[in-house]
Amino acid sequence: MEAKDSKKIFGWSGPAAGAAIFRIIKEIGPLSRTEIVKQTGLSKSTVSVHTKKLLEMGLIKKEKEKTDKAGSVGRNRQLLKFAKNNGYIIAIDLGATGLNVALCNLDAEIIEMKVSDILVNSGPKKVMNKIDQLIKELLESNQLEQKKIFGIGMGVPGPVEFSKGLPVSPPIMPGWHLSPLKQILQEKYKCPAFIDNDVNVMAVGEKHAGLAQDVSNFIFIKIGTGIGAGIICEDKLYRGSKGCAGDIGHIGIEGEEELCPCGNRGCLEIVAAGPAIAKKAKAAAKNRESEILLKILNKKGDLTAKDVGEAVRRNDLAAINIVKNSGQKIGQVASRLVNFYNPSLIIIGGGVAKIGNHLISAIKEEVLRRSTSLAVQDLRIELSQKNDEIAVIGAAAMAVNEIYSHDNVTEMMYLDGSSK
Ligand SMILES: [Zn+2]
Repeated sequence: MEAKDSKKIFGWSGPAAGAAIFRIIKEIGPLSRTEIVKQTGLSKSTVSVHTKKLLEMGLIKKEKEKTDKAGSVGRNRQLLKFAKNNGYIIAIDLGATGLNVALCNLDAEIIEMKVSDILVNSGPKKVMNKIDQLIKELLESNQLEQKKIFGIGMGVPGPVEFSKGLPVSPPIMPGWHLSPLKQILQEKYKCPAFIDNDVNVMAVGEKHAGLAQDVSNFIFIKIGTGIGAGIICEDKLYRGSKGCAGDIGHIGIEGEEELCPCGNRGCLEIVAAGPAIAKKAKAAAKNRESEILLKILNKKGDLTAKDVGEAVRRNDLAAINIVKNSGQKIGQVASRLVNFYNPSLIIIGGGVAKIGNHLISAIKEEVLRRSTSLAVQDLRIELSQKNDEIAVIGAAAMAVNEIYSHDNVTEMMYLDGSSK
């Protein structure tokens, strides 16, 4: 694998060259010094000076290359790789009805995850206290001091002004508007914290360790209480000018008139997300179109999208039609995204994505029917394989990407050099 922008790296000098070497080791290591020279176009002596410093700083570590079967090639050759276990990241995935807090290593691999079913609408004070409690438990059970936490990443179910880490008028998060989450976490844990919208975080997770590791242009669509999309463009998260790119839940659907809390009629979210599925299921039960749904309704007094999934698994025709109908509407919007953006992959995730294959096949059918033939030529539409963990992985990866950005590592190397 070649580094994509090795040409850019050539010509860099000083700490910036060190940061470029670090990135190559982190992304495609383990590598020998000779391979780094080849990848970067930098001189042997420059690579030698900077790798020495990166080792001293604890950013990379040495590894002996494993010998091949014949035992001849690579014996005693020294490789360099990212020191992913030299520190930890706390990753937080806050959903409408649940909270996951995980301890991860510096490569966003989950070491331990705590799950809690707190409601986001119980407000920031209660939820942030719960987060503190879970972080404390994670540190205790892994016998870690707080100073080993290098950063915190957090996804929340609403729009966020990323640079300031502030939720902005999040519709399902009453009381959280402009709540200074970044500041609160940074002051409490004395490390950098990064807050973003949950769908963005999930897209970053798929890029880092999910279905999209080798995909440069893709869209992650989350279907849950709401519907949103995270956009990865040329390997980077695209946030848009105000950070609300991908807010597809309020795109209008043909022939739909239902009033959305946003003030418009027939928005995708209000006619196809989890609550819409539950509402249609209740109507089907009351109209006696489905005995299974009626039984569940009578027993529980209410129906959720999860119950519809259960009825689908039991081949209930009314439930299957409700799910297909949602899939068609999501597919209608997805086809517009495909025509506009030409991704090579669409990943479907979120709680409602677990409802069964009828949802994704309806989305696929609709996209194929409505998109231009060139746009769908190599297009794949797939269900997230790590649906329950992808937000936590993405929150950790977002923090790692920010902490070890080119500029930050350049600065670390500069400060380290001048202090000696
Ligand atoms: Zn709307």
